[in-house]
Amino acid sequence: MSQKRIAIFGSTGSIGTQALEVIAANPGLFSAEILTAQSNADLLIRQALQFNPNAVVIGDEKKYTQVKEALAGTDVKVFAGEKALEETAALDCYDMMLAAIVGYAGLRPTMQAIAIGKPIALANKETLVVAGDIVMRKAMEKQVPVIPVDSEHSAIFQCLVGEGRNKIERIILTASGGPFLGKKPNFLVNVKRDHALQHPNWSMGAKISIDSATLMNKGLEMIEAKWLFNLQPDQIQVTVHPQSIIHSMVQFEDGSIKAQMGLPDMKLPIQYAMAFPNRIANDFPRFDFRKHNTLTFEEPDLKTFRNLALATEALYKGGNMPCILNAANEIAVYAFLRNRIGFLDMTELVEQTMNKIAFIEQPTLEEYFESDGEARNFAASLIHM
Ligand code: NAD
Ligand code: MG
Repeated sequence: MSQKRIAIFGSTGSIGTQALEVIAANPGLFSAEILTAQSNADLLIRQALQFNPNAVVIGDEKKYTQVKEALAGTDVKVFAGEKALEETAALDCYDMMLAAIVGYAGLRPTMQAIAIGKPIALANKETLVVAGDIVMRKAMEKQVPVIPVDSEHSAIFQCLVGEGRNKIERIILTASGGPFLGKKPNFLVNVKRDHALQHPNWSMGAKISIDSATLMNKGLEMIEAKWLFNLQPDQIQVTVHPQSIIHSMVQFEDGSIKAQMGLPDMKLPIQYAMAFPNRIANDFPRFDFRKHNTLTFEEPDLKTFRNLALATEALYKGGNMPCILNAANEIAVYAFLRNRIGFLDMTELVEQTMNKIAFIEQPTLEEYFESDGEARNFAASLIHM
């Protein structure tokens, strides 16, 4: 395999930094050509000095001078601002984009990479939740592979390798259940930010950690799976599996079920997506069945974790509903992280926004952008009251 040049959009995040660990461990296989960060200029500078990319982008324009000066002695190009993300994604200096920005902000640069025919390793699930039909259609048109990084979707993708045209009967998306598995609303109503940020099995960015605690993450993943694997909503089942050893499963038309397993470590799906179709040897800890003799499964508690019910509703409804759900959820999560609203208020905000914003059955990309904006404004207006 020749060296693959990776553009990491969101290089300072949890996925981005782990991707750089994979690159550092496999210098013959990968190089980092583009690195981007929203506000963590110090880390972006350190990464640029270590990996010597072609270009870096700092989202926060106030930090441009700091980054530019720190990299003055190098030939790293420095850009700043939101527009620069798209412009850099259009540069023909890389072989694959790792889409690791969090939230709606990841959509435009990823669309730009697809437009110029670059394969995508997709961590940013919100891209598919917001505009999955358009993103996947464009990828098909351009014959661009979209390889999932999300561990559940990587598991499904790995189960499908070698299956050719064999039909999927259903997929079983496993969910850890998050830090509040088994808890009831009378407990959740008092949950605070720091408690919700503690995930039992994974260490992740703040937004996805909250989404995991509310089970919104699993709802977003159902929608992500629909677009990645071209499924009908009723082909997607969520099963709670607290040990997070089975990362997800595929059941075929003959009833046979394939699972992909391992210890929870995002570096595995990251390196799998970057190296596909090859596997790379590593020394990550191995799972030993004899030491973990119980794997358990249960149904999700949709009455307590209503975000999952709302996301399922959006999945079935289609159109711009997942986009509305996502926008309201982003507003809700950041408000919760700032201690502006309570844990259960997040669900209220999402539900009210879904009821308020006009439904569009087959939105254009422009209409998705508009629905996103309207949903954000409405959700935010609920917080100020
Ligand atoms: P994070 O918050 O740790 O990092 C986010 C990255 O995006 C940072 O580099 C940040 O600078 C950048 N960013 C944030 N806001 C931005 C904006 N407005 N414009 C441009 N860049 C911006 O997030 P993460 O946990 O690494 O997650 C990244 C994506 O991967 C999310 O979509 C998440 O759902 C998905 N994902 C993460 C994990 C995980 O284990 N962390 C697992 C599966 C999927
Ligand atoms: Mg996941």
